[in-house]
Amino acid sequence: MSLLEVTGLSKHYAGRPSLVQRVTRDPGQVVRAVNGVSLAVERGEVLGLIGESGCGKSTLGRAILRLHEPSAGRVTFDGTEVTALAPPALKAMRRRMQIIFQDPYASLNPRRTVAEIVGLPLALHGIASGEEAREITARVLERVGLKAGQLDRYPHQFSGGQRQRIGIARALVSNPEFIVCDEPVSALDVSIQAQIIALLLELKRDLGLTYLFISHDISVIGYLSDRVAVMYLGEIVETGPVAAVLDNPRHPYTQSLLSAVPEIGARRDRKARVRLQGDLPSPLNPPKGCKFHTRCPLATGICRSAAPQTRDLGGGHSAACHRLDEGLSLLEGGR
Ligand code: SF4
Repeated sequence: MSLLEVTGLSKHYAGRPSLVQRVTRDPGQVVRAVNGVSLAVERGEVLGLIGESGCGKSTLGRAILRLHEPSAGRVTFDGTEVTALAPPALKAMRRRMQIIFQDPYASLNPRRTVAEIVGLPLALHGIASGEEAREITARVLERVGLKAGQLDRYPHQFSGGQRQRIGIARALVSNPEFIVCDEPVSALDVSIQAQIIALLLELKRDLGLTYLFISHDISVIGYLSDRVAVMYLGEIVETGPVAAVLDNPRHPYTQSLLSAVPEIGARRDRKARVRLQGDLPSPLNPPKGCKFHTRCPLATGICRSAAPQTRDLGGGHSAACHRLDEGLSLLEGGR
C-alpha cells in the first residue's frame, strides 16, 4: 500500500459569471482546475509534479490536503480515506500532512513573531504550549539552519531564504510524515534555491519524510525526484521513475518541456527547442479530445475527438497519447 493514494481527484470551481449571466441567472461556466487525477506516493519518496503555471499543480496539492475541498475523487493517506474525514479527524490528520508554500513573503504573518508563526501548529494540534512549545520551536528553528535567538524576531527581519526556512520549520514542527512542497524555491534567487533544496533533501533523509514536490522547473524536479508526474490542463499526461521519464519521455508535452533543458538526462545532444503554439488553453473551456491537441505538433483527427487513455509502458512508466506505438518524438534523434 502506498503512503498516499489519489484516485480520480477533481477540483472544479464556478467561474465568475458575466453581467449577462448574472442578469439571466445563468450559473456560468465551470473552471476544471483538476480533472480526474490518480497518482500514488510511496513512503520515503519524492514525487515531482511538473507542469506550466496555471495547469492545476497547486490546486491538486491543496485538494490532496483538503485545503481546497475536492469536487470528486478520493485521497487515502496511510490507509485512511482523508476525503471522508469529518473536521475533527481531518484536523488530526493535518498534523501528519503539511505544506510548504511558494511565497515566503506572503505566507508568513508580518505581525507575528517567528515563535508565534512556527509554534502555531503546536497549539492548534494540542501538542505543546508555553515554555515547552518555545523549546520545541527553538529546536526546529535550529534544525532548518536558523538560530534559537531569532525566535522573537518578525518576518521582515529575515532574508527571502531565511523566510522560507521559517516556512519549512512551520511545516516540520508538528512532526509530519508527508509534505506538499508547493514551488518552495521558485520565488528565491538561484544561489538560495540550491541551499533550500539541499535542506529539504537532508530533512527528508534524516526524518524519513515523503514529499509531493511541485515545480514548473524540470531541472529542479529532475534533481530531487524519485518519480515524476507531468500535468497538463488539470490532468496527468505522463508519470514514471525520473530516469524513465526524463531520458525517454513518451508524451509530446513532456518532450516539449525537456527540449528547453538540453543538459538533463541522456539527451545532451539535442538542440532544437520545441516551441509550442499558443498559450495553455483556459480550464474554463478546455479542448475536447486530447487536451493537448491545440498545441501538439503530432495531433491528428482522433486527437481532436477522443481523449487518450493512460497506458502502462512497463517499469512504472505510463502516458496518455494516441500515438505512443508509432515511435514518434519531437526531440532530435527520436527515442
Ligand atoms: Fe498529441 Fe494526439 Fe498524443 Fe494528444 S493524443 S499528445 S494531440 S499526438
